[in-house]
Amino acid sequence: MPCLVMKFGGTSVANLDRIRQAAERIKLEVIQGYQIIVIVSAMSGKTNELVEWVNETSNLYDTQEYDAVVSSGENITAGIMALTLQEMDISAQSWQGWQVPVQTTDMHSNARIEEIPTKNLEASFANGVQVAVVAGFQGVSPRGRITTLGRGGSDTTAVAFAAAFKAERCDIFTDVDGIYTTDPRISTDARKLEKIAFEEMLELASLGAKVLQTRSVELAMRYNVRLRVLSSFEKPSDSAGTLVCAEEEIMESNVVAGVAYSRDEAKMTLISVADRPGIAAAIFGPLSKSGVNVDMIVQNISEDGRTDMTFSCPTDQVLRAEKSLQTAKDTGTINYHNLVADESVAKVSVVGIGMRSHAGVAATMFEALHGEGINIKVITTSEIKISVLIERKYMELAVQTLHDAFELEKVA
Ligand code: ADP
Ligand code: ASP
Ligand code: MG
Repeated sequence: MPCLVMKFGGTSVANLDRIRQAAERIKLEVIQGYQIIVIVSAMSGKTNELVEWVNETSNLYDTQEYDAVVSSGENITAGIMALTLQEMDISAQSWQGWQVPVQTTDMHSNARIEEIPTKNLEASFANGVQVAVVAGFQGVSPRGRITTLGRGGSDTTAVAFAAAFKAERCDIFTDVDGIYTTDPRISTDARKLEKIAFEEMLELASLGAKVLQTRSVELAMRYNVRLRVLSSFEKPSDSAGTLVCAEEEIMESNVVAGVAYSRDEAKMTLISVADRPGIAAAIFGPLSKSGVNVDMIVQNISEDGRTDMTFSCPTDQVLRAEKSLQTAKDTGTINYHNLVADESVAKVSVVGIGMRSHAGVAATMFEALHGEGINIKVITTSEIKISVLIERKYMELAVQTLHDAFELEKVA
């Protein structure tokens, strides 16, 4: 029997009514004769609430217990979805991550899926179950502890199941009807894309476009999963959503495919560190060990053997970063004068595989931001993206300005 993976995000299972509508959508595919694996998120807002409870209880929390708490939202939705399907005379069974089992690394709060043995689900299908409803975002570590896959992780659960079960398609149902040139909530000019290349989506996701979790795109690319993003709020015939596919499947595309943003960034500057071999390793090694995701890095020109080192990280990791650098200073592995945290910045990026062969994208970007009087604090580039760190209050303006400057509302 052909297999299909259908993933429903938070707003698509926000209440019992929405779950019933999602179940109707699932039923249509059951009727088509598919064996279905449904991946569900927690009801919208639930995971945020659980994260807040953890933060209120413990500042620098133990990530194993964080996982025990925040994974629970998905358990509820999985059970309710299975019951809803049963009420519609569909044979459905719920699965928590450990029951499948979704085997992950032990990197709590940000674990990676290592393997999904298909045996248990296959046995249930063989026993007549039509729909397996799996709690997304969660797994089990080699030591048998519950893990979670990082925020937005149900997308990755979905793609990993699609790869493991060789599904015909992996459909991600969400609250927008596809992938746009930028977040349609920020720019009304945003245009829906029919297709987007894996590489472009990978960059957009890692630069903040939360419509898909980065690792889900990585996996889809590696295992060639047919990945589609579509709305759970529309009738099936209304929209085919956006297909994420290989570059070769796309005939025409703009030089810049899209604009992404990441609102909650912090810029950290270590003032006056000794400029000697090994200093970067001495700073970023401990940061990585304490779970800080460092993104942009800039080292200033050195004077009298000392320099300033600037890096960016998410605002909710500032405390961890400060603690880790203070410890490194106290133990004498690094020596700096001062650590300054600027928590009022945001990152805005333009992405496009056309940038490989077109010059001038950076110049257009900087000119457009200059035209609006937006100051650039840090710049990083790669083959297919340019990112800038700017003051957070200009973030929406910058997104709109860049969308206009690259004429993304128009098809190439
Ligand atoms: P779900 O709960 O279904 O997983 P998310 O909130 O994680 O949904 O992701 C969908 C949201 O992603 C949209 O509501 C939209 O605001 C945002 N988004 C950001 N960038 C884009 C983009 N380029 N195209 C579409 N949506 C985007
Ligand atoms: N519920 C989790 C989150 O909000 C996972 C997900 O929805 O993908 O991050
Ligand atoms: Mg999501």
